[in-house]
Amino acid sequence: MSKSGTILYLDGVSVSFDGFRAINNLSLVLDRGEMRAIIGPNGAGKTTMMDIVTGKTKPDSGEVYFNGEIDLTRHDEADIAMMGIGRKFQKPTVFESHTVEDNLMLSLKGPRSIFPALFHRKTADEARRIDDILGIIRLGDKRHMLGANLSHGQKQWLEIGMLLAQDPKLLLVDEPVAGMTDAETEETARLLKDIAKTHSVVVVEHDMHFVRELGVKVTCLHEGSVLSEGTLDFVSADDRVVEVYLGR
Ligand code: ADP
Repeated sequence: MSKSGTILYLDGVSVSFDGFRAINNLSLVLDRGEMRAIIGPNGAGKTTMMDIVTGKTKPDSGEVYFNGEIDLTRHDEADIAMMGIGRKFQKPTVFESHTVEDNLMLSLKGPRSIFPALFHRKTADEARRIDDILGIIRLGDKRHMLGANLSHGQKQWLEIGMLLAQDPKLLLVDEPVAGMTDAETEETARLLKDIAKTHSVVVVEHDMHFVRELGVKVTCLHEGSVLSEGTLDFVSADDRVVEVYLGR
């Protein structure tokens, strides 16, 4: 299959830990600009798949390409982050003693620029970018609030904003709505749909109501391979998917 037009291209990828195949001949293709939801029971290989994409884990075999041309297996984690693959882990990690705006500024400037980020005036361009991101993450009226005082959901949004500040081409988002209220979950679906207008996004999620709100193609993993792929209605009507979720 052609890699052109893809943002992420995995073909025949396998990885074993102590003889156990966590990822087994996995093939998964994401078009540039696409948002995809990845589901699957515990142990299906979702985290390991993300680890392979971000360079944390090297596959034993198979192809992993970014943007149709970059062989990710040849790069380390730091390189891959610099290339524009941003990952958000499940637990939010914002700087609690800094304001929302300063959190974004720190991400915009990069981790080695703490003093310039916090003590210098923002350029007009930086101020504009921060305003744009605050709009996307629904925190415009919280810009001066300390990270510590945000709700759990707002911290998740801020962390997504911090990723956006790094200008990624592909965002990997792990269970963004775990622990959120229903209202925050719905807002998160809208927020990610806004982001997906300009970015490619992979969302790993267990909450099927949320996946339905996203309204995107779904890939169900099981035992390290793709079990089923298509609309949520298609995947959730697939007997094999029902079987692995119900454990029959
Ligand atoms: P998921 O994120 O879908 O729950 P994981 O990718 O975390 O699944 O795990 C897939 C399988 O690989 C699990 O059986 C897990 O125990 C195993 N696994 C993952 N990472 C390691 C590791 N570093 N060492 C040994 N086994 C691992």
